[in-house]
Amino acid sequence: MSLPMKDRFELPEGMIYLDGNSLGPLPKGVAARVAQKMTDEWGGQLIKGWNACGWMAQPSRVGDMVGRIIGAPEGSVVMGDTLSLKVYQALSAALQMRPERKVILSDIGNFPTDLYMAEGLVRHLGQGHELRVVAPEDVAGAISEDIAAVTLTQVDYRTGRMHDMNAITATAHGAGAVMVWDLAHSAGAVPVDMAGSNAEFAVGCTYKYLNGGPGAPAFIYVRPDLADSINPALAGWLGHEAPFAFDLDYRPAPGIERMRVGTPPVLQMAALEEAMAIWGEVDMAELRAASIHLSELFIHEVEARCPDLRLASPRDAAQRGSQVSFHFEHGYAAMQALIARDVIGDFRAPDIMRFGFTPLYLDESDVKGAVAILAEILRDRLWDRPEYLTRQRVT
Ligand SMILES: *Cc1c(COP(=O)(O)O)cnc(C)c1O
Repeated sequence: MSLPMKDRFELPEGMIYLDGNSLGPLPKGVAARVAQKMTDEWGGQLIKGWNACGWMAQPSRVGDMVGRIIGAPEGSVVMGDTLSLKVYQALSAALQMRPERKVILSDIGNFPTDLYMAEGLVRHLGQGHELRVVAPEDVAGAISEDIAAVTLTQVDYRTGRMHDMNAITATAHGAGAVMVWDLAHSAGAVPVDMAGSNAEFAVGCTYKYLNGGPGAPAFIYVRPDLADSINPALAGWLGHEAPFAFDLDYRPAPGIERMRVGTPPVLQMAALEEAMAIWGEVDMAELRAASIHLSELFIHEVEARCPDLRLASPRDAAQRGSQVSFHFEHGYAAMQALIARDVIGDFRAPDIMRFGFTPLYLDESDVKGAVAILAEILRDRLWDRPEYLTRQRVT
């Protein structure tokens, strides 16, 4: 393999897409595959599809594909629901493992939904739990013996700052806490070794760097030695030991299958399954090297040509995921002006212009082309127009 593999993606002519960290592009072949599934399987097989077409096995089959990218052994990852729900499942299981402790520790770099789900869980448990949120650099020091679970997103969605997964997991374990990682901006972006980290849980989504499409299902990893002892908070029928026995009592399925909840999104997951095929050809070390190269080039070019922008990401590539962010007072309008010129990044409040670097379909000329347009927009204040200043619903 050599990167990039642009011809494997449906990228609109002339567009420079720097937002694969938010929604990956459509890989070639996926649309045809989903159309074929609709016609042949749903249309042709109807209810028989659950057995005849392997629909029921899909969440664990695709889970294993994701597992290979995050260093998780076979049978330790399952797909379903959205990431917010998977956060809830992992946290509730983690709290059950430490009933005598009452604190969930997280950081302000976490994605809000992760914190909201933790707050909601605490409220509904009604057992005196507390969510404690500290600055990212203070996490290690805040891991004390009263912490039940540490939950962090490895790569900060705004700045790209990356936690040291092995070091923090070891610190958490040293204090007797359970570790829950959110890999939303890690899976398919940086090499991850779940098994090597020894963390108990990981969760993530698949519509970002894994290119599964808008609304693609999330994943959850449970360390294999623990999976059989979890008592799932979301005790759905498809996580039951025998769903089609229709027992009135819940008995969890063996292993990771108990983290399933209800009917899987078969067509959406078919898109993901097809999109995952490319990862069989990708060497994560090579991908990481290419990502760092593109990110460093971008930082260098922007700092040379756009003096109004201030780097919001760590300067040290080893502490950064696969995105680069800059502060700019008029960041929203400038991003709208960029998008109007077909350079697609996004904006995160209050003033962050965010750019994702995805070496599967980006090269140096994309980076240079994007910065040339950005420099022109800033130099000529092309962002200062009413239509760029009005915030849209999704930024
Ligand atoms: C993208 C992202 C989410 C989104 O959650 P959904 O339930 O899929 O909408 C959650 N957490 C993190 C850290 C994210 O980056």
